[in-house]
Amino acid sequence: MTDHPSTDVIVIGAGPTGLTLACDLSRRGFAVRIVEREPTPNHATRAKTIQPRSLEVLDDLGAVDHVLRHGVAKLPMRFHESSGAIVDKPPIAISADDSAHTPYPDPLQIGQFHVEHALRQRLEELGGAVEFGLEVIGIEQDDDGVTVTLRTADGEQTARARYVVGADGGKSSTRKFIGLPLAGKTYDEQRWYIGDVTLSSDLDRDHMHIWPSDQGMLGLTPLGDELWQFQSPILPGVVPGTPSLEFYQQLFDERAGTGNVVLAGASWLSVYLINVRMVATYRKGRVLLAGDAAHVHSAAGGQGMNTGIQDAYNLGFKLDSILNGALSTLLDTYSEERIPVARRVLAMSTDKMARALAAAGSGEEELGSALAGIGDGKMNTGLGIHYRGARMIYPGGSEVTSGPQPGDRAPNVTGLEGGRFRCGLFDLLRGMHYSLFVWDHTAPVIFDNAKPTHMHVHRIGPDRSSPIVDAEGEFQRVYQPYAGELILVRPDGHLLARIPAGQEMDLINHLAPFRSIGNTVRPY
Ligand SMILES: Cc1cc2nc3c(=O)[nH]c(=O)nc-3n(C[C@H](O)[C@H](O)[C@H](O)COP(=O)(O)OP(=O)(O)OC[C@H]3O[C@@H](n4cnc5c(N)ncnc54)[C@H](O)[C@@H]3O)c2cc1C
Repeated sequence: MTDHPSTDVIVIGAGPTGLTLACDLSRRGFAVRIVEREPTPNHATRAKTIQPRSLEVLDDLGAVDHVLRHGVAKLPMRFHESSGAIVDKPPIAISADDSAHTPYPDPLQIGQFHVEHALRQRLEELGGAVEFGLEVIGIEQDDDGVTVTLRTADGEQTARARYVVGADGGKSSTRKFIGLPLAGKTYDEQRWYIGDVTLSSDLDRDHMHIWPSDQGMLGLTPLGDELWQFQSPILPGVVPGTPSLEFYQQLFDERAGTGNVVLAGASWLSVYLINVRMVATYRKGRVLLAGDAAHVHSAAGGQGMNTGIQDAYNLGFKLDSILNGALSTLLDTYSEERIPVARRVLAMSTDKMARALAAAGSGEEELGSALAGIGDGKMNTGLGIHYRGARMIYPGGSEVTSGPQPGDRAPNVTGLEGGRFRCGLFDLLRGMHYSLFVWDHTAPVIFDNAKPTHMHVHRIGPDRSSPIVDAEGEFQRVYQPYAGELILVRPDGHLLARIPAGQEMDLINHLAPFRSIGNTVRPY
């Protein structure tokens, strides 16, 4: 007989993925432990782009302010040619256009450690804290929970939880303990020198600087305070040098001209080897994987940290339902919804990295166009990611021919007016609840009885006959609702259903296999 778990969830790993999940579950009031094998927080920049969609997630979690303060938007590229000529080009990271309806259209350049700092701070506000210096060295699960063995500075200990989430990065031990292979390919010929450096020479911090070279470009990106992220591809066939300040200085002297860039210090130096691999499922019983533990890929397109944050956000509200009695089939929808996203990210980032590396030893024109290609496309904002056709999404409501479809991210709209407030749609979505928008309809709907902690029901319409007025007509323009339509948004900001009033029971029956609506929404 095993002891009863005293913790709801143990999150393994305090990178961006684990921290996002720990924040989400903590604000929902669950007993969460987040354990990290390192004794102190990560100080390496590693990922350096945060997408608009991840900013929306951090906003919902209450962790966006620090990131907005330290992130840099629209950082143009500046090419330093060997002739001494300077050529300026637009930013790599492309902003979302107006059709995305987001408060955060610009991807931001920011060191990953800043994002982690913001999430750690938020976790502390929520009453949690990372437990540093605890390494998971064993996992065993049974019908009631999971036993985790931890190595500490003082020896070993065990802990029990109802669920465990391995957010322990590309070399995940969790993945090995539950026997899920990381299938794919290691690209031995795709390697980068990378590092965080400071400079003693003057270089303006308003550009990402690039020195094209036939031995491989050198890049410096300003990332807050005095720090720069250094990147340089190691061309195929070249035996890599050992990263050191002296070695990186030698690369600058050889490729950018002696004395043009003088490195002063380095806080992190590494060689980044590109793996393109993922697991076939993100769940084995009560143990789940998220972030790099489930999928690794090249940095092209800046997807790693973002995909992890968004995995965690998809999982958080589902674990909430599960811990409140929903059926475990709901957890399968986590894999089902996120695996196609990881597949697309792997394919896209591999293609972009191949193009960037093919041009890595070229001049400004070819290199510039390859680098520009890294930042384009809808995947780069994260706003086009959708779960259309997924099992949890209600496909009914054939009347929906335009506007966002079930499974899509719900776009923001502004200019909503109530008796004493004026707000945007995201203000109404912010929090842990489902949100139901009942458009231009006064008759009762079944969901009027939902517990307010689980679902907020908003009656909205074009004029003062509705409690919320679409004063600028933006809801109507963006969502294109019909009178009497119910638009249901999940806690992760994706549309679950668009149905005519009167068809609520069809939706409830659709969700019965998960028992999520009964437990999470309690409409009856
Ligand atoms: C060297 C390097 C350079 C990178 N550069 C870029 C880049 O330039 N651009 C980009 O987009 N992405 C880059 N990435 C990828 C990006 O950093 C990841 O996608 C992102 O960190 C994923 O977040 P995560 O939280 O899933 O995993 P991680 O950030 O890796 O966090 C996992 C955490 O789990 C901890 N952990 C591991 N095992 C255990 C255990 N057994 N017990 C307890 N804790 C454990 C680790 O110490 C770590 O803190 C880089 C990654 C690396 C490794």
